[in-house]
Amino acid sequence: MKTLFNPKIILLWSIVLIVTLCILIGCYWIYSKNFKEQFAKTMNEVQIINDSFSEHSLQIISKVDTLLRAVRGYYIHSGSIEDTENFIAGLGYDKLFVENIYLINAQGKIFIPSNDRIKRLNTSHRDYFQFHLANSEDLINIGPVGVGQVTGKNQFRVTRRLNNQNGAFGGVILIPIEPKSFTNYYCQLLRSSDNIATLLGINDHKIRARSIESSSDIWQKPIESILWDALKEFPTGSYKNKSPIDNIERQFVYKRVSNLPLVMVTGFSNRDVQHGTTKQMQPIIIAVILVEIIIIMLALIISIIYLQREEMHKLATIDSLTGIFNRRHIETIGHNEISRTHRYNRPLSLIMLDIDHFKMINDKWGHPTGDRVIQAFAKAILKVSRSQDIIGRLGGEEFLAILPETDQNGAKVIADRIRKFIKESITTVSEDGSIIRFTVSIGIATIISSEESFESLLSRSDKGLYKAKESGRDCVVAI
Ligand code: GH3
Ligand code: MG
Ligand code: MG
Repeated sequence: MKTLFNPKIILLWSIVLIVTLCILIGCYWIYSKNFKEQFAKTMNEVQIINDSFSEHSLQIISKVDTLLRAVRGYYIHSGSIEDTENFIAGLGYDKLFVENIYLINAQGKIFIPSNDRIKRLNTSHRDYFQFHLANSEDLINIGPVGVGQVTGKNQFRVTRRLNNQNGAFGGVILIPIEPKSFTNYYCQLLRSSDNIATLLGINDHKIRARSIESSSDIWQKPIESILWDALKEFPTGSYKNKSPIDNIERQFVYKRVSNLPLVMVTGFSNRDVQHGTTKQMQPIIIAVILVEIIIIMLALIISIIYLQREEMHKLATIDSLTGIFNRRHIETIGHNEISRTHRYNRPLSLIMLDIDHFKMINDKWGHPTGDRVIQAFAKAILKVSRSQDIIGRLGGEEFLAILPETDQNGAKVIADRIRKFIKESITTVSEDGSIIRFTVSIGIATIISSEESFESLLSRSDKGLYKAKESGRDCVVAI
């Protein structure tokens, strides 16, 4: 696990992380560029669609108005209810939008169609009646959506004033239109359910038709929107707003329906644009994911190979019991150190250390305890020696320390310090709880000639150790 925090592995994965971040930033940049393009494209499309809706509304209302004028003209000319009814019956108007044409007298009573049930209804309280009563001009009125007294359906009413011969208020001529007729047309052209088309009355700010009739009370409430300010400035334009009906933020495009008191508004949400952009980005996203998978796989393979090599190197150089260099590696280092010492003509000493009567420890406390004594011995040498000293295990309970830049006196000081430290401070607890103390014998060899080999130095330190053993152990002998 420790090897995972190896600087080279950290560097490799940092590069992978940086490359990934760069790829992500690149993707984000491409995405936002595509998003802007997609936004402009959607805006353009919605503008065209909204123009067509506006044109559609104009055509319908114009046809209805033509009908109103024609029937009114006929009625004024003929003065006969029966003839007018026959005239209406003979007209070939668009039944999809116009189901009936009503004529109302100055008292608010419907006299065409002449039907006993309808005759009893009074319309004088209705907004269109009041509107024409109050306005002597011949204006077209497009009222808000409300439930019809005759049909019971949601309808808005297109009306004109009827005048008596003397020009006084003679009633109203009316054609009801169902918002549904518009909705069908909107739904044919709109691409997503987030696209909303709404036909609004400019004077009362109320909805006349909407592509989605989310609830029945949408008709009564005037719509609060920045549209009304925008419309005062320009008859066509766009704005961003949170829909007061479904609370979704949309980009809206609006257009006034010719000179009628109506405005057509179509909105699209960012979700639509995002959807389009994501679709466009799909091949790039797939390619990026593949590249990223390849990068991560490569980094994984490199990491595994590197860690395996590290492990192999460790096995080849490190002694598994003590964690310090093994014999082969300490000898390699020894050769290099000797060459360097000769090159710069510097002092160097070797100290060879061996536990006294180790066989006895093994015999008395068992091999596993003996192992722990060896481990404690290695730790003690590491603790007392200096950072530049190189320690290795030659085998069994025999260790070697290479002391660069150290003459015989310096080596003696260090060796004796190790000897004393082990004797006085190092204890190992055996399996049965006994405290084991031990001593070491140390042989020292210091370079004496500029040609001395590592082997010769090692052999001299071994001799020193032998002499130390002979001299009664727990001592240091320099050769
Ligand atoms: P001396 O004071 O003369 O050094 O006596 P000694 O008993 O220490 O003698 P010697 O150095 O010959 O003993 C080494 C013993 O160490 C022999 C061997 O059984 C034991 N030994 C070698 N390697 C290991 C090891 O890895 N673990 C353990 N527990 N014992 C080992
Ligand atoms: Mg020994
Ligand atoms: Mg030995």
